[in-house]
Amino acid sequence: MEERGNISIHTENIFPIIKKFLYSDHEIFLRELVSNAVDATQKMKRLSAIGEYKGDLGELKVTVKVDKDARTITISDNGIGMTAEEIKKYINQIAFSGAAEFVERYKDAGEQNQIIGQFGLGFYSAFMVADRVEIITKSYREGTEAAHWTCDGSTEFAIAPAHKEDQGTNVILNVAADSDEFLEAARIRTILDKYCKFLPVPVEFEGDIINNPNPIWTKQPSELTDEDYKNFYKELYPFSEAPLFWIHLNVDYPFNLTGILYFPKLKNDFEIQRNKIQLYSRQVFITDEVKDVVPEFLMLLHGVIDSPDIPLNVSRSFLQADSNVKKINTYITKKVADKLNEIFKKDRATFENNWEDINVFVKYGMLSDDKFYEKAKDFVLLQNTEGKYYTLEEYKALTQANQTDKNGQLVLLYTTDADKQHAFVESAQNRAYDVLKLDSVIDSHFIGMLEQKLEKTTLKRVDSETIDKLVEKDESKESVLNDAEKEDLKKIYEQAISNQNMQVEVAPMSPDDAPVIITLPEFMRRMKDMSKAGGGGMMFMGNMPDTYNVTINANHSINQRILKAKDDNKERIARQAFDLALLSQNMLSGSALTAFVKRSVDLIDKE
Ligand code: ADP
Repeated sequence: MEERGNISIHTENIFPIIKKFLYSDHEIFLRELVSNAVDATQKMKRLSAIGEYKGDLGELKVTVKVDKDARTITISDNGIGMTAEEIKKYINQIAFSGAAEFVERYKDAGEQNQIIGQFGLGFYSAFMVADRVEIITKSYREGTEAAHWTCDGSTEFAIAPAHKEDQGTNVILNVAADSDEFLEAARIRTILDKYCKFLPVPVEFEGDIINNPNPIWTKQPSELTDEDYKNFYKELYPFSEAPLFWIHLNVDYPFNLTGILYFPKLKNDFEIQRNKIQLYSRQVFITDEVKDVVPEFLMLLHGVIDSPDIPLNVSRSFLQADSNVKKINTYITKKVADKLNEIFKKDRATFENNWEDINVFVKYGMLSDDKFYEKAKDFVLLQNTEGKYYTLEEYKALTQANQTDKNGQLVLLYTTDADKQHAFVESAQNRAYDVLKLDSVIDSHFIGMLEQKLEKTTLKRVDSETIDKLVEKDESKESVLNDAEKEDLKKIYEQAISNQNMQVEVAPMSPDDAPVIITLPEFMRRMKDMSKAGGGGMMFMGNMPDTYNVTINANHSINQRILKAKDDNKERIARQAFDLALLSQNMLSGSALTAFVKRSVDLIDKE
């Protein structure tokens, strides 16, 4: 009594279209079919729980088998099964019309819409790899007959009574000639490992249970130990170093979301650490591209997010506009900020010890998200050259008295390289100024942000001005030289240096300061940094030479000596003093360095 029929859908030949669309992601057929099988067993559990089903549930399980000779893949479950009527309703109508609707929606979207490949088509995806699909199924309802359904992906199907002892469903794929790869056990195992690793019902393949049905994110935090969290991290990222700390996400209103986010040890290569968060929907792996679900700066985190409320069958722009996704974004951001704040408050030592690893992340967050800034401003840390940490408030209190300039502006000093800028760091410290270490790529942006957000505060690199001008005070220094002498001195140095990118000026400084000081104005360096980083409209800056300020210390004895020296010796001493300034900043190299060494030898020889 075989029955034949036509599936009534409006789009003809959806099969080739789907095959083309999902070209790169054929493997998801297995995720879809195993998920359906898991759902069928879960429904059994529910029926039993509410008393609809009174029999013995037995051991609910899904089994995947590959038979290379017969060219079949079989997905079996002992779930609720289907009657012939239910097949007609759920498979012929729902599954097929779902697929048809999908094609209608996306057929004009073009190749660039690869993203849809990540999203399931449900049962119909079987036809991406099979040219004939069979279902042999028996409903859990007593007295129902098993059914056997066959279809080749066209709109024609056949359905007949079948013999099957136990309730449940076998879906048999007769693998198409162009999909041989899926007859390899190793390939199937890899796919199962990717998508099915945490499905809630045991999944068996070649005698092994391939999944962990109770991953820790489904449990209550109170049931878990630190060891559990660490072990789970290892399970997810076998090759990564242990995480610093973690956040257990658990919310069921107004959206449903569970998960665990880990703060990894970032090191410096944080770019390549992205795409580590895995997105699940009811324990089914969906994707590790969480770009649109998780705020950009949180992509540096690792871990798992599981939410049935993230819509998976819509395009990317829909996802960004989705109100649940927005709420999820806000929720995660808040949780992360709260966790950091908690560690900061409860255990500042740990927080400081981990600062090196988390600072990029906190700064990135503050830069990209105002809400995060508002929370993080209380725990973001500044580190000085002595390795001490301060909050913004603490640092302000530390520096305010000594580093406020004559205009009432608080000047915070920083170094990007305490070694290379040593002379400047030292002269700042001699004035009891504090110097911050701000040396990472993100720090240049962080500095700009602090200036914007903090009132009456400027940040200057220690070598951007001479020490007197870094923090300009009211007192002015007396000059030993008169104006005419200063002008002479300036000319001598200009001749000796003869470089138009070196702007010479003579200024009275302390006799203990260096005779010559070379500085690169703060704004100049920032512009260059910005253009290097590809900042809009400033590409030309990259090719522009730096224009340095060369300040000649009018009160230094060498400079007084130069004025008194014999004519032919004036320039020589000036050049020597200038080279020493270059040398102290690692700016002396090549022929200039060779000339300097020769001149130095001559000078010593003469003594
Ligand atoms: P979805 O799972 O999104 O509803 P599918 O196309 O995957 O869409 O499946 C359509 C329907 O077919 C399911 O909702 C379910 O009722 C039924 N179904 C599919 N696979 C099974 C199975 N293994 N056991 C019982 N019912 C199934």
